[in-house]
Amino acid sequence: MGYLEGKCPKCGEKTREQSNAWAYGSPIRFCPRCKQEYLDRRWREVAIDGFDPKATSPAYYLKCFAGCLLGTALGYGWFYYTTHYKGYWSTANVGFLIVCALGTIGCLGMAIYIGLGFGKKADQKYMEESKRRLRDAEYVKKLLACGYHVPDEYTVGIRNSSDSL
Ligand SMILES: [Zn+2]
Repeated sequence: MGYLEGKCPKCGEKTREQSNAWAYGSPIRFCPRCKQEYLDRRWREVAIDGFDPKATSPAYYLKCFAGCLLGTALGYGWFYYTTHYKGYWSTANVGFLIVCALGTIGCLGMAIYIGLGFGKKADQKYMEESKRRLRDAEYVKKLLACGYHVPDEYTVGIRNSSDSL
């Protein structure tokens, strides 16, 4: 779980919404201040956009893990060198080391999470929620107006009704 920060384009209110790591949810957001809806394309409507390719591939996180591990080793080597041979250490060094170490743990955790299939259940839930939203004709009309390519199965009724106008 994480947060997605943004800004309402209508009133400028800063927004901070809870989301999963890949922002699965409706791209049509609701501003709590001005009570208006706005489009935020960072959100993925998974029944339309599909799941984030990174989210289903442990390989991506294993690469990230390898990169962070290398960074941690270099950061530690730098720290060891300055403390042992120069008698000082720098905050930049320690900061780099901490970021790389956290990245290493985080990426390994994600690779394991995805690799063992823990993500699948959560993905199913997001897909169900997404499909449920798309069964609402008013909602589909809004997405179409925003330029989304909504799959035919959700637009049949809507296309027919507009044809008859
Ligand atoms: Zn607003």
